[in-house]
Amino acid sequence: MLTITAASLAGGQGKTTSCFFLARALAKLGYKVLMVDADPQSSLTLYLGHEVEANQPTLLEVLKKQVAVEDGIYESNYPNLWLIPSDDGLEVIQEYLSSTAMGELVLKKRLKEVRDLFDVCIVDSPPQRTQICLTAIVAADELLIPAESSSKGLHSLVRTLQLVDELKSVDAFEGSILGIVPFRDKWLGRTQAKRSQVSIQDMKEVGIGILVVPSILESERYKQAIDTGRTLEELGYPDLELPFQKIIEVLEKKWLLNK
Ligand code: ATP
Ligand code: MG
Repeated sequence: MLTITAASLAGGQGKTTSCFFLARALAKLGYKVLMVDADPQSSLTLYLGHEVEANQPTLLEVLKKQVAVEDGIYESNYPNLWLIPSDDGLEVIQEYLSSTAMGELVLKKRLKEVRDLFDVCIVDSPPQRTQICLTAIVAADELLIPAESSSKGLHSLVRTLQLVDELKSVDAFEGSILGIVPFRDKWLGRTQAKRSQVSIQDMKEVGIGILVVPSILESERYKQAIDTGRTLEELGYPDLELPFQKIIEVLEKKWLLNK
């Protein structure tokens, strides 16, 4: 099982959006995909239309080893797509992770238990540099860094790259950076907004040697696809899938096709 985490240290950078569309695209190709909602805001759980019931285990119980990992996995409404959900109760895991030796390794270790059941695991992380965020990053074989096409996005990218360097320097992060995903790239007809153009150029300069994938355009269609459960292609916007196709192309070359 290949684990991919979307991380970016600011709110609204496109982490959950990237996770959702990448997972759906992989599932459509026939890969068995496990999604992990590692954000107490639980947007991903919501996007998948999953309702957590009071007595059902979530990521919290999985991380605390109160249940077997498999017991925290639920089928989604989409073929080939499963979820370990979360709700705002996940917040209390911070304390557990900080007081556990090598708390950063907890998710990685737990996911090993189900590595033979899935082809790909996609982890959505919270925007703050918390213990949950660290354990989500450390679990990754490949890291995706979505960043808004703005100065806030650039700042988020810089902070995330610094964190990855820190984690590498203590041998905690052993994965690689799959790519930067510019988010909300704005075009007016055939003209790219200056702000988008400048910030994406800056992303390329900041992320030397890191792939900058085709951007997620500023568009209501992504939300529409989530709300209706249809794909962007089914909605008549196949071009909007380009960022995820590029990511899958890279993943297949490096990992998936020679399995
Ligand atoms: P958080 O840090 O809060 O978890 P995030 O990094 O996961 O945020 P998303 O939730 O993916 O970011 O997206 C942020 C917001 O942008 C959401 O409200 C979403 O509906 C909206 N959005 C998603 N895709 C697009 C798009 N292509 N164009 C414009 N807005 C979008
Ligand atoms: Mg999110």
